[in-house]
Amino acid sequence: MPVPPITVPFVSFRPMERELDAGLRAAFARVLQNSWYIEGREDEAFEQAFARYCGASFCVGCGNGLDALVLILKALGIGPGDEVIVPSNTFIATVLAVSYAGAVPVLVEPRLDTYNIDPERIEAAVTPRTRAIIAVHLYGQCAQMDAIRTIADAHGLKVIEDAAQAHGATWQGRRAGSLGDAAGFSFYPGKNLGALGDAGCVTTSDPDLAKKVRALGNYGSDAKYHHIYKGQNSRLDELQAAFLSVKLPHLDAMNAERRRIAARYCAGIANPAVVLPAVAEHCEHVWHIFAVRCAARDALEAHLAARGVGTNKHYPTPIHLQGAYRELGIPKGALPLAEEISATELSLPMYYGMTEEQVQAVIDAVNSFKE
Ligand SMILES: *Cc1c(COP(=O)(O)O)cnc(C)c1O
Repeated sequence: MPVPPITVPFVSFRPMERELDAGLRAAFARVLQNSWYIEGREDEAFEQAFARYCGASFCVGCGNGLDALVLILKALGIGPGDEVIVPSNTFIATVLAVSYAGAVPVLVEPRLDTYNIDPERIEAAVTPRTRAIIAVHLYGQCAQMDAIRTIADAHGLKVIEDAAQAHGATWQGRRAGSLGDAAGFSFYPGKNLGALGDAGCVTTSDPDLAKKVRALGNYGSDAKYHHIYKGQNSRLDELQAAFLSVKLPHLDAMNAERRRIAARYCAGIANPAVVLPAVAEHCEHVWHIFAVRCAARDALEAHLAARGVGTNKHYPTPIHLQGAYRELGIPKGALPLAEEISATELSLPMYYGMTEEQVQAVIDAVNSFKE
């Protein structure tokens, strides 16, 4: 049987790009006209707007989401000899950031209902070397920040948000980016707020931390050719900042559209073989990823592909079983929840501009699946 064309791609940027085409072209023309490409007025304007959007006092642009987390850790003075608690089921960048800073990542299992780090398991992972907890707002839903803060305060730990999947998500009415000591965002094109290339930022309401993050991302300099730290080069391009400024005013509407699609999926999908995602108390989800679970995940994936529905897996191999982290010495079976999620999770199409026919096609395709 010939494979049908994918009629519902896992993701498409075209509907959004068509809508914002004139604005993006004008932003490009403006940057070219200004003839200034790194750390200028576009950066400043976007940083101010995004800080305000998140409810944080400061935003510092940088090269990407991984750098954002590394810069936060370094600015907090976290490095060799220190441990940082991270969820066992995250994109590898969260864990790599800890390694880049020179510290040791300590993996803690998630809750199976929200996929976010289980606060009840954090305490057992705290040692005298623990310095911080990175709370990842996975798939677009905030982690349980009150419980995490309580544990952090009891042990004198910093709370860092990995908000790379959670632009605009709220917890108790407050936006991701304002819920910890500092937050790292990615503007990778596929994120809810994406640049037209790599970009990222740090938000915080601590003025000293913001200053140090900015210096560390600019060769460790607090003034031109005056270097107080051995910093790195991780800055936000004017061009990307200008594009992001075009998109930011549309973020809430684009997230609302994702919520509408998610509500359609939740109401329409009824298949005993498929576990739907749950929205936790106090959370407004922004559905970066619509993750379902299915014991026969690979068969479901093939079933959907045969009906023209594109899918993805987040993430097919857990961190502790990646070659890069063999050094942690965590054997297969030791983190059963991360392993369960990686073996059963399937991400359904979710993007701004999906048509009603496409949403219905996904629902019908999932409902017609039999184990
Ligand atoms: C995308 C992502 C990152 C890294 O962002 P980049 O911009 O690709 O470096 C970090 N953490 C999570 C959870 C992500 O999804």
